[in-house]
Amino acid sequence: QTRAGEAVRATPMIAQYIEIKAANSDCLLFYRMGDFYELFFEDAEVAARALGIMLTKRGKHLGQDIPMCGVPVERANDYLQKLIALGHRVAVCEQIEDPAEARKRGAKSVVRRDVVRLVTPGTITEDALLDPARANAFAAVARARRSDGGWRYGVASLDISTGAFTVCDCDAAELASVLARLEPREIVAAETLCREEDVADAFANVAAPAAPLGRDAGDPERRLIDFYGVSTLDGFGALSEAELAAAATAILYVERTQKGGRPALSRPVSLRDSATLDMDAATRANLEVARTLSGAREGALLSVVDLTATSAGARLLAERLAAPSTDPALIGARLDAVAFFLDTPDIRFALRGRLARAPDLARAVSRLSLQRAGPRDLAAVGAALVTARDIAALFADAGTPEKIAREAETLAQADIALASEIMASLADNPPLDRRNGDFVRAGYDAALDEARALRDESRTVIASLQARYAEATGTRLRIKHNNFLGFFLELPAAQGEKLLRPPFDATFTHRQTMADAMRFSTRELVELQSKIASAADQALAREIAIFERLASAVLARAEPLQTLAQAFARLDLFSALAEVAERRNWTRPHVDHSLDFAIVGGRHPVVEASLEAQGKAFAANDCDLSGDKAGRIAVVTGPNMAGKSTFLRQNALIALLAQAGSYVPAAQARIGVVDRLFSRVGASDDLARGRSTFMVEMVETAAILNCATPRSLVILDEIGRGTATFDGLSIAWATIEHLHDVNRARAIFATHFHELTQLAKRMKRLVNLTMKVTDHAGEVVFLHEVVEGAADRSYGVHVAQLAGLPASVVARAHAILAELEAADRRAPVEALIDDLPLFKRVAETSASKDTLREALLRIDPDQMSPREALAALYELKAKA
Ligand code: ADP
Repeated sequence: QTRAGEAVRATPMIAQYIEIKAANSDCLLFYRMGDFYELFFEDAEVAARALGIMLTKRGKHLGQDIPMCGVPVERANDYLQKLIALGHRVAVCEQIEDPAEARKRGAKSVVRRDVVRLVTPGTITEDALLDPARANAFAAVARARRSDGGWRYGVASLDISTGAFTVCDCDAAELASVLARLEPREIVAAETLCREEDVADAFANVAAPAAPLGRDAGDPERRLIDFYGVSTLDGFGALSEAELAAAATAILYVERTQKGGRPALSRPVSLRDSATLDMDAATRANLEVARTLSGAREGALLSVVDLTATSAGARLLAERLAAPSTDPALIGARLDAVAFFLDTPDIRFALRGRLARAPDLARAVSRLSLQRAGPRDLAAVGAALVTARDIAALFADAGTPEKIAREAETLAQADIALASEIMASLADNPPLDRRNGDFVRAGYDAALDEARALRDESRTVIASLQARYAEATGTRLRIKHNNFLGFFLELPAAQGEKLLRPPFDATFTHRQTMADAMRFSTRELVELQSKIASAADQALAREIAIFERLASAVLARAEPLQTLAQAFARLDLFSALAEVAERRNWTRPHVDHSLDFAIVGGRHPVVEASLEAQGKAFAANDCDLSGDKAGRIAVVTGPNMAGKSTFLRQNALIALLAQAGSYVPAAQARIGVVDRLFSRVGASDDLARGRSTFMVEMVETAAILNCATPRSLVILDEIGRGTATFDGLSIAWATIEHLHDVNRARAIFATHFHELTQLAKRMKRLVNLTMKVTDHAGEVVFLHEVVEGAADRSYGVHVAQLAGLPASVVARAHAILAELEAADRRAPVEALIDDLPLFKRVAETSASKDTLREALLRIDPDQMSPREALAALYELKAKA
């Protein structure tokens, strides 16, 4: 069967459907039928399952029933939200002509339809679909040839709902961690690129669906020039080829999904020079910044730190925590801003109050640019402008630090004329939707007032007609209205007969006879009716024109308005961080270029908050990994539940918070700026992932050993426990050696391999820490206090006792332990430590040194020509 054959046999509607669906094959097609969006064939099956709605059928195609399901148009947003959350893309297909037009073409022709937009997880703009506290960006990936023939990857991140647009470039190996930082809701790339193994792997690591594009973006510069309507890209700053290609791919996707809507996007800003703390996907997940490992928000760092008053502020905070700075000067300037708000509680309080009432400006402007806005979005712009002036006044003579002064300056320049114009024209509390009108303030526009008066007046005249007609005819007629007849007169059938006869039949025209009523109309009524209709049409057209005029006035200033929105967000962020610092008693960290890491009285912000809720205190702990040219490694031992993981994570979180420009949960913190943060948990905490967890653990450990530098901070929790004891111990051992000798990173290593504490004897920058535990009346009590030294290994048995193992089993375990320890002393691991050379020396002696020696011994200088001597020298060099 050819496709043409199919089309011939399909009904015209199904033929139309198949054509539109073919052009949008990667989307679910919402096909408009009257008051419903309907889905057919496979789409219907997918959607019915995803939405839990009924799957039915409509007609037949090629002799088979066509599966169908539908959602009512007015509730479409709820369903869209569900589908998007599941990673689906939806093409919304509307009727684009009046059904009457179609009927004119012939009885069988179908109404023209077309896809008016694609709704995808990464490109939504409606408040109903958006999470206010999260950026909603998609990432676009493209690549360009490097001069050495390899590939350089460009990654663009674009949030249509706010216009924020950034680009950066990286190598294939860095792609996954760049994407992890951006946390896109969707990833876009040319189909051919999506199929490359490296790229597919990187995409698979990010929890966002990938959208393969059928074609690439063509000439990237051309596409950007056309989109921004500029003549050259000179004003865009230096973008690399890969960055340009990624930006162009992002624009291509905007054009594809928005179908001609042109969102107000800021120009792409390169992140290449904005030095940020590097964290890979596993580290991010592990530190539970935005979500816990189980996916909940409650219990994540943000749930404790986020006291922002606006959604834009919340989005910025999430962004800062996802990409903390590595520039001590910038961090210092941001901390100055937080300090200012901490010192001026009155200003902070006033600011937060005003911000809390301010609307989400960035998202309102974005909806206006996409013609998806309503009167309320215009009102939001007006209100934001007024708030800006208000807030600027708070800083009038406050001696603000640089960061705040700059934002205050932006706010002070808010376009108050535009605000007045919006406020003067819009009614108070305007409706969401502009289609029903009634949002322009009475008295603003004379023509509108006149049309409205005419409409209302005619309504009054109609109301008075009823009394006049009733009296004239001596009946109980009433004036009613429906969509089919418009206004009409209705009276009981028995009385209606009277109007069919003279003299009344001259005035009253019979329209309809019902079971017990008759309906009439009069010339006067018809005239009034059309007067009302045209007045209402006129009024609405007038209102829409006013809306359009204001909207384009706003869009002409889209750029300064987006800048204004950013100023709000930054002030919100600084003041919110001051609020956290005050409420939770945090201190200002000192971040510099050293390799120090000295925390006094550090706390885990989330554990502390949850203990506090239970009325318990958190035991603060110090941590010093400071070194001169290389960091120290702390090996932490102690029984389960003693607080090892908490200690590890709190130090990583303190570094992260500090570099994000926040105060930190500690009495004192001095941190030499961290370039990369690594955090790993041993495999058995991670069983849910289903892959060979030990393999995952090793792959992740390999990444650390290959990448960590003396500037890095490494947190390893129980690495090596995913396999048999000796295996695990050996791997943990070798890992510590490598960290100590090669990476020279600042590191904390928690382990239950007690043997590793012996390594301190051999490694001068290694310290043993343990969790203090005491016996109280024969019971183990965890003090959660970190002290120098090694753990007493018998506490494992105590913990077993605590957990309620039968007394006989506990007693037996004590006995076995004593035996094992005695045996251990006969063949102590300590001996191993002394015998087993460190791995670097293993390599040197066994491999290179010996072959070199052999080669040297074979050489007889007296028998060699100068040319042979030179060749031998090269050979030796190659073996070294
Ligand atoms: P481990 O990693 O040693 O098994 P965790 O770090 O998971 O132990 O800590 C276990 C529990 O002990 C935590 O959930 C918390 O309730 C408590 N805890 C940990 N550290 C502290 C501390 N410094 N002060 C008070 N309670 C703590």
